[in-house]
Amino acid sequence: NPASKVYVANKIKACNTVGFHSMTHKLEDSSSEEELLSLIDNLNKDESIDGILVQLPLPKHINELKIINAIAPEKDVDGFLAHNLGTLATGELNSAIACTPFGVMALLYAYGIDPSGKNSVVIGRSNIVGKPMSLLLLSADATVTMAHSKTQNLIQICQNADILVAAAGQPEMVTKDFIKKDAIVIDVGIHRKENGKLCGDTHQNAKEIASALTPVPGGVGPMTIAMLMLNTALAAWNKDRKS
Ligand code: NDP
Repeated sequence: NPASKVYVANKIKACNTVGFHSMTHKLEDSSSEEELLSLIDNLNKDESIDGILVQLPLPKHINELKIINAIAPEKDVDGFLAHNLGTLATGELNSAIACTPFGVMALLYAYGIDPSGKNSVVIGRSNIVGKPMSLLLLSADATVTMAHSKTQNLIQICQNADILVAAAGQPEMVTKDFIKKDAIVIDVGIHRKENGKLCGDTHQNAKEIASALTPVPGGVGPMTIAMLMLNTALAAWNKDRKS
């Protein structure tokens, strides 16, 4: 997967920058679920490994949820495990948090934007972005609406958002018509256009109305990698603390 190659290269680069040892296991498209489960099992048992991530998407014959949930919870630095998503839902916030929404929260706070009491709309309900994003905003006392492909009156719902998170995976879908004046718009999407340029889920004309808009490229993408590094450091620290 060409996009995955870029993401993996960026993650290796970030590991090198912060001084983490990283190993990449490249499997063939035709690899079986058993092969991948066996590799994860070995990495789970390997004391020298603090964090494991499986770069998605996986080939269609492999059950992604089964693979993700095979990772030891304490080594799930992507924060994708059902267990780790569950602790977000219960508000415990004591295990790895999914990197992309975690990065969005870090961005908000870095810019002095407190979600408390704000109307927040998250477009997208995936397990890796939309759901954990909504739960994190809720934990930060925002009033959260989750929208998805079956949502009716999406534009009107978005027009009520003080914080709008676009994670629908639809290039430039969120135009200025979706945006309340001076809203904060977080663009999670990343797409390559026919002309080779990258774009997000948000149209550039959103800038005319929003008070802040994350750029694509830049913005949420680098934050995702930064939080992956943080989750890994925390996993190593937690292991050392317990031993
Ligand atoms: P998914 O395809 O898994 O989920 C997309 C979600 O958006 C679904 O819940 C879907 O609804 C909803 N949706 C799709 N079309 C519409 C629409 N027209 N109106 C409203 N809702 C819609 O994507 P991901 O969550 O994995 O990723 C979302 C985007 O973020 C992608 O562009 C991806 O590349 C990007 N991404 C970026 C990262 C980064 O580091 N910057 C990291 C991860 C993802 P339904 O559930 O009903 O199908």
